[in-house]
Amino acid sequence: MAFGFVTTRVTDVLNWARRYSLWPMPYGTACCAIEFMGLISGRFDISRFGAELLRFSPRQADLLLVMGTISYKQAPILKRIYAQMPEPKWVVAVGACAASGGFYNNYHTVQGIDELIPVDVYVPGCPPRPEQLMDALVKIQDGILKRDKGRIQNSESRIQKGDI
Ligand code: SF4
Repeated sequence: MAFGFVTTRVTDVLNWARRYSLWPMPYGTACCAIEFMGLISGRFDISRFGAELLRFSPRQADLLLVMGTISYKQAPILKRIYAQMPEPKWVVAVGACAASGGFYNNYHTVQGIDELIPVDVYVPGCPPRPEQLMDALVKIQDGILKRDKGRIQNSESRIQKGDI
């Protein structure tokens, strides 16, 4: 058997490891969070994707799942949570409310969390099925392997000084 060797970049190895060890932080404000509870239960089993270690501190999470309606009163809280997450980090807007305000087209509802923080994947539906959340997770994992530095820089610029 001939001897061989493998070459790669440290970044590629790190991204490969990140891909299968996401630490999600659920930010659930309404009914979409119930679907997430389905995703982490035995029937759907998020552990198969290496993302079962839920964190309830943003400082220990790299995947923010925003599930439910976001009011303008909550906007500074969401921005602060995002700012407290270490880089690299990813955001999923789960359901119509998080993605666009849903049917709450009124004075107190944020019409999509991308008004506040950058979003990597939007999950449509009211509510979306757990399978759609799994699809979002796989999209995030695929995106980690080809990280877009421009988006990361853009996300930094959206956090203004007075916000946190
Ligand atoms: S998208 Fe539908 S299910 Fe999800 S939080 Fe809004 S109203 Fe509830």
